[in-house]
Amino acid sequence: MSVRTRFAPSPTGSPHIGNIRSALFAWLFARHNQGEFIVRIEDTDRTRLVEGSVEKIKESLEFLNMDYDEGLDKGGEYEPYVQSERQDLYKKYAYKLIGSHQAYHCFCTPERLDEMRQEQQKNKQAPKYDRRCLQLSEAEIKEKLAAGEPHVIRFQIPEGITAFKDIVHGKISIKNDTLDDQVILKSDGFPTYHLAVIVDDHLMKISHVIRAEEWLPSTPKHILLYQAFNWDVPEYAHLPMILGSDKKKLSKRHGATAFLDYKEQGYLPEALVNFMVFLGWNPKSEREKFSLPELVKEFDLANVNRAGAIFDIEKLDSINGQYIREMSLDKFAEKCLPFLEKAGIKVGEYESDYIGQAVALEQERIRKFSEIAEAVEYFFTDELEYDADLLVWKKMERSDVKPNLEKSLAFYENLTDKDFTIENIEKITKEYIEQEGINTGEMLWPLRIALCGRQNSPSPFEIAGVLGKEKVLTRIEMAIKKLDI
Ligand code: GLU
Repeated sequence: MSVRTRFAPSPTGSPHIGNIRSALFAWLFARHNQGEFIVRIEDTDRTRLVEGSVEKIKESLEFLNMDYDEGLDKGGEYEPYVQSERQDLYKKYAYKLIGSHQAYHCFCTPERLDEMRQEQQKNKQAPKYDRRCLQLSEAEIKEKLAAGEPHVIRFQIPEGITAFKDIVHGKISIKNDTLDDQVILKSDGFPTYHLAVIVDDHLMKISHVIRAEEWLPSTPKHILLYQAFNWDVPEYAHLPMILGSDKKKLSKRHGATAFLDYKEQGYLPEALVNFMVFLGWNPKSEREKFSLPELVKEFDLANVNRAGAIFDIEKLDSINGQYIREMSLDKFAEKCLPFLEKAGIKVGEYESDYIGQAVALEQERIRKFSEIAEAVEYFFTDELEYDADLLVWKKMERSDVKPNLEKSLAFYENLTDKDFTIENIEKITKEYIEQEGINTGEMLWPLRIALCGRQNSPSPFEIAGVLGKEKVLTRIEMAIKKLDI
């Protein structure tokens, strides 16, 4: 059987991490099996549309390099299929079910349905349509339709039991009498999700429906619809819930849930893919790092867990940090640029070598690119702001700081620009300290604060090597002045 999977998001806002996890699993399964992957925008619920969502869905897929194989041909390039452009099709299928007496017109008003539900609630009955309109005669229906009465079409759930085997959850069976006569065509002429999804999955020859667990309860209704049309039922794999660290369903409470927020914060696509695949997939080994091509090779739905997957941001940070450290310096520096710019650093005013050397100091430390600007901003300012007391090392007297800074100043003044490499500065500064018999901390702490104005930073040699002679001297002078105030 040829494998065809799909990602079928509703354009109801920026896709969240769970949506994109579903896309990733469907994509990986298709690619692993040399199958096809398609994207379909499910926009039949017109009340929930949010403008710009489709662009965000596309941007998310593109960011992760998840390509799709077909769709609407827009001048040689594929765009996702869009359900609202296929509206007539669903109507036709809804009427087919009317024709075969498996669906019926329902003219009940929202008020009547409300009353019915309240009554059911009072009697402790499950809310379910009471099939009043199923009693209407052909003539009554004709009359109401001719009078233009608003109506929906409901699927008549047959008697019996519906059973199926989910690849992740195993055998599931449900008594049909627990199911409601689902609306399949709404009064605005649009299909409901339930009709549109099965018509499209059938027509688009989807072999495996891979989606979030929240759709598991809808699956029996879908299967009954397939059976009503006499169509083959696809395989189903419902992916486990994504939970926050408190084991509750992941939500805004747990932080960012919109997928693109992670792009924004400077997580790498490789890291996000690697992280997301572990939100449900188990490689059956201790291995934690997989590239996209490796995942295509290894991924299988058989190794998807049923239990909820914990979303651990620490893990994402750690894996992102690993990918950052593996980047070439050039690539790393290039990726840093927009994040520096966004933070207001005027990168255009600096040599690219200088920027490269500055950010290089942080490649081993940062875990996501949004951290870079804060980490290196002292390289891009002429005015360091810090308290003069910060220059004082441990038990040092404030009055002892200045002579040490003056010693540094005199020592560095005698060097040439060329001497200002990180390695050389480290070597000769250490030699000088030893020669002079000065306490290392008392010499280097004030120097480091003078150069960067903060307690946590790379070593003063690294900072000095990047800043170069002129800036180093100016900064030491400024520190000396600060002590005078
Ligand atoms: N349109 C549904 C959603 O946005 C898709 C459910 C499915 O994959 O069948 O979640």
